[in-house]
Order: sequence, then structure tokens, then C-alpha cells
Amino acid sequence: MKIITVIGARPQFIKAAVISRLFLKDKDTQEIIVHTGQHYDENMSHVFFEEMDIPKPSYNLDVNGLTHGVMTGQMLAKIESILMSEKPDIVLVYGDTNSTLAGALAAKKIHIPVVHIEAGLRSFNMQMPEEINRILTDRISDILFCPTEEAVLNLEKEGYSNRSVKIVLSGDVMQDAAIFYSQKAQKPNVELPNTFSLCTLHRAENTDDPTILSNIFRALEDLSKNDNPVVFPLHPRTKVKLKELNYSFSNSSIHFMDPVGYLEMIWLLKNCTYVLTDSGGLQKEAYFFRKKCVTLRNETEWVELVTHGFNYLAGTEHNKILTTCSLMKEKEPDFSVNLYGNGKAGEIIVKAIKLFKKI
Ligand code: UDP
Repeated sequence: MKIITVIGARPQFIKAAVISRLFLKDKDTQEIIVHTGQHYDENMSHVFFEEMDIPKPSYNLDVNGLTHGVMTGQMLAKIESILMSEKPDIVLVYGDTNSTLAGALAAKKIHIPVVHIEAGLRSFNMQMPEEINRILTDRISDILFCPTEEAVLNLEKEGYSNRSVKIVLSGDVMQDAAIFYSQKAQKPNVELPNTFSLCTLHRAENTDDPTILSNIFRALEDLSKNDNPVVFPLHPRTKVKLKELNYSFSNSSIHFMDPVGYLEMIWLLKNCTYVLTDSGGLQKEAYFFRKKCVTLRNETEWVELVTHGFNYLAGTEHNKILTTCSLMKEKEPDFSVNLYGNGKAGEIIVKAIKLFKKI
């Protein structure tokens, strides 16, 4: 079975590491990796391929730094020509980025079955580019692997039960990754405070609005000064936007560092007191490593984390962020609850993909 996997952004490398390892062990499958280039530099891309043993991409499309339409369009054209010459049995896409949508659309238009891993998630916020990408990708996928029961329900509410597609509740491949790489955690090679909270921020709706970005950073400065030093691996987009705001990095109480690899991120997760983030992946990883999380958004796709008291939605207002952090500190949720499968999502997915071919 010939599979083309289209990936391009940081969280997709982490998810693909889980599945690619299983394909490598399976003599009946041949996986060809297409890297769109959406994330391309050393610490947003290369480090993950090296430390997670992801097979080298056969194709690098080098499409990045463009507007959504141009980026998706260029990817679409380049992926289509690869698919026409490689003629794979299926195309595999992950998550909700422009690379996801371009891969799915290129395949579907030439009648190649599409497999979507991390299907069915919804924020119900159509301002998010990710929400548009995931709804459209789900709609043209043939197998939808859902990480949670909530994701399956979302698809059922949208009428997917009446469509000739396969929906599988697989659990979350990120849980598999966290378990597999946990013992390999590496301390980042920078000076760090003894206790710290861990923050990441990169969503366009937070970084691209100067008022929202300033509000969030005022709150983070206050927390870092008065509560717990904030350690912050800084996403390149956020760095650019802070520079545009003339943010004073030298006077900041926040401990900024360059984006880290996954093994260093696991070390930070294991050693922090709590997590502040607008990342989808990090909200779950906080829970995997038994840390409470304050999410700097008004809604989340991972609603089960909120209902079980692991995750607190703070929005982006200065005072609300501070009060939500205080509220979060008073709570002691029961981390023994299992929300994302038992670390076997990858095996379930690979087995179902192989069965799909036989139908
Ligand atoms: N991550 C990382 N280094 C960093 C920041 C994030 O390895 O400096 C990992 C993080 O642990 C998670 C993934 O990248 O596994 C999340 O990616 P991101 O926040 O970019 O995307 P999202 O999950 O929001 O789609």
C-alpha cells in the first residue's frame, strides 16, 4: 500500500512521528512524506525530524510566508503534480493547517481517498483559519480518525452518520507521542528559574491584533513578576508582532527563549508549575504531564479538559487572565481520568487504514 503523507507545520511533525514509526515497521506499507515547507527552519522543523526519527521527506515544496490563499493555492498545485506521478493508494493529512487542506483537496479532486487524523474537532469560531481548514478537510475525507468522543459527536451533529465515510474513535496520537518520548525529555541548554510557569502563544487571533497582544503580555508580565516566573519559547510569528509593538524584550520579566524541540518541551512540561497557552497541542500535553492549564482563548476544541477541571479558559483580557490563574490555583483536579485513549491511537489508525484498502 502506497501512502502519501502531507505535513508542513510543527504539530504535524509530532503527530506524524507516531504513525510513520508504525509504517516503517510494516512491510506492506510504503510511506512517502511530502513537506510543504509551511514551517521550515531549524527549530520549527528540522529538530523534530532529527530527534523523533521521522523519515526524511521525499519532497520539500518550500511554500511559506505567504497569505492564506496564495499559500494554499501553491501547495495545491505542487501536491497535485506529485500525486499524479506517484499515484498513491491514499493521502494522509493531520490537523487543521493550510497544508492539511491543500493535501486533502489535491487528493480528493483526483479521486484518491483521503485520511484525516484529528478529525471532528470544532471551536465553532469561524474567524479561526484552523476552523475553516478542519471543517473543509473533514467534509472531503474518506476515513476520519477522531481523538475524542466529543469529536465523533460533532461529526454526527453535522450529518456524517448518513455519509459513506468511515468514522473511527482512535484516541489521540499526541498521547502516544507523550508516552513514547517521555523518558527522552531533555533539559533546554539555557538558564532557567527554579520554579516557573510555561507559556506559548502563536494563534493569529491573538498575535495579529495589537490590543489583544498587549493585553496578554501585560498579564504575563504581571504574573512573571508577582506570581511565578514565566518561561516562554517564542514562536517566530509572535516575535515579529511583539517587535512591531516595540515590546521591550530587555526590560521584560518573562524568560524568553527560542522555540524548543519536542524533547525539551517535554522537560519544560514536566518541570513547570502550570501552563499558559493558546496552543491546541499544549493544552493536552499539560494534562498528559499532570499540569493545570490556563488557555488564552475564549473557547477550545478540547472541551473535555475544561469540564474535568484541567483547563481554564481565560480569554485575552488582562484582569480575566489574572483572576483565572488565581481560580485555577485553588483547584485540584483528578488527573487519573483517561480522556485521550491509552497511547494506542497509532496502532488503531494504522490497522484501520490497512483494512480500508481491502474494502
Ligand atoms: N512545541 C514544541 N516546541 C515549542 C512549542 C511547541 O515542541 O517551542 C510543541 C508542543 O509541545 C506541541 C506542538 O508543538 O506538541 C504544538 O504545536 P503548536 O502550538 O505550534 O500548534 P497547535 O497545537 O496549536 O496546532
